[in-house]
Amino acid sequence: MNTQDRLFEDLSDKSLFEQSLAHGLAYVEQALDRHLDPRAQDLLLLEHFKEALPIEGVAAKTILQQLHDYGAPNTLPMLGGRYFGFVNGSAVPAGLAAKQLATFWDQNTAMYVLSPVVSTLETVVQEWLKTIFQLPKRSVAGFVSGTSMANFTALAAARYRLLQRQNWDVNEHGLFHAPPIRVVTGKHAHSTVLKAVALLGFGKANIEWVDVDEQGRIRVDHLPELDDRTLLILQAGDVNSGAFDDFETIIEQANAANAWVHVDGAFGLWAAASPQLRHLTKGIERANSWATDGHKTLNTPYDSGIVMCEDEEALVAALHMNAGYLVLSKERDNMFYTPEMSRRARVVELWATMKNLGVRGIGELVENLHQRAVQFATHLQQIDGFCVLNEVVFNQVIVQCENDELTDQCIQAIQQERVCWVGGSTWFGKRIIRVSVCAWTCTATDIERTLASFERALEQVRK
Ligand SMILES: *Cc1c(COP(=O)(O)O)cnc(C)c1O
Repeated sequence: MNTQDRLFEDLSDKSLFEQSLAHGLAYVEQALDRHLDPRAQDLLLLEHFKEALPIEGVAAKTILQQLHDYGAPNTLPMLGGRYFGFVNGSAVPAGLAAKQLATFWDQNTAMYVLSPVVSTLETVVQEWLKTIFQLPKRSVAGFVSGTSMANFTALAAARYRLLQRQNWDVNEHGLFHAPPIRVVTGKHAHSTVLKAVALLGFGKANIEWVDVDEQGRIRVDHLPELDDRTLLILQAGDVNSGAFDDFETIIEQANAANAWVHVDGAFGLWAAASPQLRHLTKGIERANSWATDGHKTLNTPYDSGIVMCEDEEALVAALHMNAGYLVLSKERDNMFYTPEMSRRARVVELWATMKNLGVRGIGELVENLHQRAVQFATHLQQIDGFCVLNEVVFNQVIVQCENDELTDQCIQAIQQERVCWVGGSTWFGKRIIRVSVCAWTCTATDIERTLASFERALEQVRK
């Protein structure tokens, strides 16, 4: 059979897609209660993937079976409630299901003419996000892969505007011989902010670093003088402590100096969705750009990042492209708000997740993450040998054992227990265990099981 005939046969073979769904459902069923880190016998299965590209194509069903048998055991079950690594999220079922449906649509979202539904959903979700975060009405949103790209895109808009004010068109003339712009940020800025600074040609060595307090917040009294060629980058949610900068005070100063303010709110911006936690993001509405993720706090499936900007002209100009073959329309052409032209319809699952939860549900989801983090920190403090170092203002808990060596050994012992998954990091020069509560699936019982595992792990390394 020739290849095209074989592919048509696959497309009409419902049982192929039913097999994929059955494997997916089997996965979800066990993901909530599975061991975390893959075991040694699981890792051995990865050998099956290490082969040369076959000359003759392999049957689709065989391939799906291979993924299920050898791939699935080597995933980390982030859907479940005891994955506390990095800052991750689970996925709300409506979002997962919507993503699955949109997979079949297989839309390219660049322009309205390519996908009227996606253009419409991006317009709608943009409005919803402005309401949730209480941002200025004129703001626009771009739907990118994550906060890395959202930071990058927002800083590109800032670069365009700060140079344009000095009569310099960065798109035409680049940074060679450009008038200087300043980049000011806190010493705890996220690594992806630094990556964006490097990619955009600002140069990391040119950053004016501001001291932070013991929680990782920018020290307002250490801010340098700001001016209208300054890009100031603030943070809603320190990646370790979850701390929020004092937006109200800092942005007031920045506004007075006409500096550009960007807020990296990868997970923390969602505090604005909760009446109980909204005080943390007070003042963000007076910034110029914001970056956040759907795939962290909101629990959309991967990948989902959002850039928002109150200066539409700067954002669109920074991302400008044109070519004779483009078909532009009066409706939203999505590619003007993102660096990419072709990309998938990730707004579908973002839309579905937000609609499924509603304003109240999003608030409750965020509060649950906070409450579980507080539960964990409160009880861990009572176990001899653990010390919680941060104020648990949001979803992050920083834990220390008696010394660095013990902390690192404890992380290893926790991972080997496979009851939960936690990361390690360094906090003001000391080794720490980072616990990020970010999955909607996390229950009080998950926290109890995690506490028991921490206790056993420490007991074991002390022996
Ligand atoms: C996770 C994170 C990022 C990067 O976001 P991605 O979605 O991983 O690209 C940036 N800033 C902060 C504070 C984060 O927590």
